[in-house]
Amino acid sequence: MSDVRNVIIIGSGPAGYTAALYTARASLKPLVFEGAVSAGGALMNTTEVENFPGFQDGIMGPELMDNMRGQAERFGAELIPDDIIAVDLSGEIKTVTDSEGTVHRAKAVIVTTGSQHRKLGLPREDQLSGRGVSWCATCDGFFFRDQDIVVVGGGDTAMEEATFLSRFAKSVTVVHRRSELRASKTMQERAFADPKISFAWNSEVAEIHGDAKLSGLTLRDTVTGELRELPVTGLFIAVGHDPRTELFKGQLDLDDEGYLRVQAPSTRTNLEGVFGAGDVVDHTYRQAITAAGTGCAAALDAERYLAALA
Ligand code: FAD
Repeated sequence: MSDVRNVIIIGSGPAGYTAALYTARASLKPLVFEGAVSAGGALMNTTEVENFPGFQDGIMGPELMDNMRGQAERFGAELIPDDIIAVDLSGEIKTVTDSEGTVHRAKAVIVTTGSQHRKLGLPREDQLSGRGVSWCATCDGFFFRDQDIVVVGGGDTAMEEATFLSRFAKSVTVVHRRSELRASKTMQERAFADPKISFAWNSEVAEIHGDAKLSGLTLRDTVTGELRELPVTGLFIAVGHDPRTELFKGQLDLDDEGYLRVQAPSTRTNLEGVFGAGDVVDHTYRQAITAAGTGCAAALDAERYLAALA
């Protein structure tokens, strides 16, 4: 049986590494499970990040995450590129099990497993991520000044992205599978009133084109099956996110959409000694800086919890 650690952190995006940095600097020797295939989190899949404070000229996503990782490691965080496949978080001593079946024990656990943006599942979608294909208008809208853009989706997020992007874009076409939107009335009205936004109803993206950069899309009519080409240089996919909370079902309180519930403004979950931070909690802001901010808060909450135990 392993020693009882002070704190285990599950997840290695901006939230996890920031929690690791803070708990390491507080001499808590955190053990961080980074994930087997996606250590570093969502920013490993992007190119330039221009809105993380402190980098005047921007920084590439993977480089930013390498820096965060190195900074946490420098202060003594122990980082393991593996998945946690089972947890028992109810008792005073929590256990987490890695993919080889080894059980690790800790007095506190910080959950920073992030959320997965839903994909269209098309060839070239991943290859062109950060090269014309994006899942975040707030992050990337600025790169698409005077360009023709498609937003896929029919909910509030899609309308919000379309309306935001119309500030920069030459044109925004909302591609939606059905003939009406799911978005709230207010969001719909705002989008309908925007002269730069048009709608491709009963349509879906059939193909993504481009080698080094997105050069266009083929749309399919969902009623007739007819295909048509759309020469756009931006594709924003807004068809939803899935928080990575499967592991915690039945132990931690989740909201209707499956996000981890915390006692805001703290990061405390329903279980003593278990804290949540980053996109696994947040379906509103979903930014690297907000994830890092709540990762810091979770570390401070865990520190205080551990201090009270001592
Ligand atoms: P994540 O970054 O998603 O990290 C979660 C981590 O948890 C992953 O490493 C995963 O492997 C790990 N994990 C999950 N389950 C387990 C498990 N069971 N065991 C072990 N590990 C596990 N934001 C910006 O502010 N600026 C940008 O320019 C920007 N660009 C973006 C571009 C793209 C393509 C995407 C997808 C997002 C972008 N974002 C941007 C959003 C930003 O990346 C996220 O808000 C941020 O990464 C969330 O951080 P997080 O730590 O909560 O989760």
